Amino acid sequence: MVAVTVRSLTKSFGATHVLKGVDVDIPDRGFAVLVGPSGCGKSTLLRLLAGLEEATSGEIRFGDRDVTRLQPRDRDIAMVFQSYALYPHLTVRDNLAFGLRLRKTDAATIDQRVAEVSAMLGLDKLLDRLPKALSGGQRQRVAMGRAIARRPHIFLFDEPLSNLDAALRAQVRVDIRKLHDQLGATSVYVTHDQVEAMTLADRMFVLNKGVVEQVGSPRDVYDRPRTRFVAGFLGSPAMNMLDARVDEAGRALVLPGDQRLPIADPAAFAGRLQPGRKVVLGVRPHDFIVDRDGAAPLRAGVDLVELLGPELQIHARLGDVPLTVCLETAAGVRRGDSLPLAVRALHLFDPDTGESLRC
Ligand code: ADP
Ligand code: MG
Repeated sequence: MVAVTVRSLTKSFGATHVLKGVDVDIPDRGFAVLVGPSGCGKSTLLRLLAGLEEATSGEIRFGDRDVTRLQPRDRDIAMVFQSYALYPHLTVRDNLAFGLRLRKTDAATIDQRVAEVSAMLGLDKLLDRLPKALSGGQRQRVAMGRAIARRPHIFLFDEPLSNLDAALRAQVRVDIRKLHDQLGATSVYVTHDQVEAMTLADRMFVLNKGVVEQVGSPRDVYDRPRTRFVAGFLGSPAMNMLDARVDEAGRALVLPGDQRLPIADPAAFAGRLQPGRKVVLGVRPHDFIVDRDGAAPLRAGVDLVELLGPELQIHARLGDVPLTVCLETAAGVRRGDSLPLAVRALHLFDPDTGESLRC
């Protein structure tokens, strides 16, 4: 019904170029997440989709309608923000009904929709309360209910969980995804939080400084980051990035402290591992393996071990370069150990362009 298509979209505020030619394709009923650091242009893009800002150039289509110059009210969208913006003097019931009354919906339909949304979000017992008598999580549910009651074809979310504490964030996140699956609308969700992006998205758009750096399923983008930026942005703790050099044979990397790491699949970098070439090696903390018996290629000095329950987060050094390693608690690592490490998966980037060398 309503796919979202954005072509060559730009937005400048005076001399500030915030969006620099963005393309976005979201299939009907898709859940798209726009993720990136603060200031990269996420909210601006969402506000352009909503019609709250005017595009400098480019095109926005909802289904086969060109909506680029349409007013917000003509776009059939509903927005959920970080701040709930409930009407403080109206009860939950009246907050839920507000958008429908504004559109002169008849009273019977309003009652029916409010009942429906209230049941869906578990608000039945709260309908006569004022917002000040609700918890943060309940307020956010009312804000979502208000959006849902209008039955829009497209939902736009701008960091809707930011004001909630960690436990509630995880719960409302699950609620949002379930609601999306139930409602059959198209969702566009903006966040700086990579966990939200990874868990919610069918399709993830990683934004950096006003451009889309990578698009794909969360799995795909996580496993095959196309740039150093994307690689470093996704994953916690962040991917280790080490300056390295390709060895004489083009089959191993020379690392800090003169250690050598063989490249298990050199064919994956075909033609890009010229002997002597400088590269940036990326290894996720969870992609290290301890190998006490075998011929582990690396030795890392352990500075500090943090116990996180199921796993250890180890702060180590390779030569002089800091390294984060995550291992099972059973690995029994101690401060002062010289840890024999192999790697399960590695990423290589061009130090100048930041682009992945993987074909
Ligand atoms: P994000 O949501 O990713 O944190 P925003 O889209 O809010 O980023 O902002 C991106 C950039 O655009 C920021 O540098 C911000 O200062 C700038 N910006 C946003 N809105 C305006 C505006 N109305 N006037 C001038 N600059 C703006
Ligand atoms: Mg924002």
